[in-house]
Amino acid sequence: MLIDVRPILHTPGKRLDFQFALDLSDLEFNGRTPVNESVTVRGEIRNSADVLHLELTAETTLDAVCDRCGKEFRQEKTVPYSCVLAEEVQSEDNDEIVLLENGKVDAEDLARTAFILDMDTKTLCSEDCKGLCPRCGADLNLGPCSCKKEIDPRMAALAKLLENN
Ligand SMILES: [Zn+2]
Ligand SMILES: [Zn+2]
Repeated sequence: MLIDVRPILHTPGKRLDFQFALDLSDLEFNGRTPVNESVTVRGEIRNSADVLHLELTAETTLDAVCDRCGKEFRQEKTVPYSCVLAEEVQSEDNDEIVLLENGKVDAEDLARTAFILDMDTKTLCSEDCKGLCPRCGADLNLGPCSCKKEIDPRMAALAKLLENN
């Protein structure tokens, strides 16, 4: 989505609002396509003292899979992004600068890139997901599995050995 910012380019105090839907259903991530709902992007561009600030938020619900227990779950995702728009490169600012092309900015491209960069490399159904038992494969979030009892006597024996040394 190309946004023409020329109407506010030299008018401090003016702003432009925008909103559009982004289709990222093709986006492959770890061999899956987690973005099956359209991504809603809302934002604004404002001229503040003749500097153009763009701010946007991309929001959707992902079809995620927990890396630890393999459970499928719905994950709310909100990605904020901001930058400064300029007609030419200015180097003294720390903000990310995006150059205008013929007075226009491709907000869809910015939102898409921000969203992809923000995808977590690790996905967990919850911060303290206990995962699956490496021996029997039981979901340890549902409670301890029966393997525990087999390990305990050996650990106890080992502890005894160490004590005797
Ligand atoms: Zn999990
Ligand atoms: Zn087990």
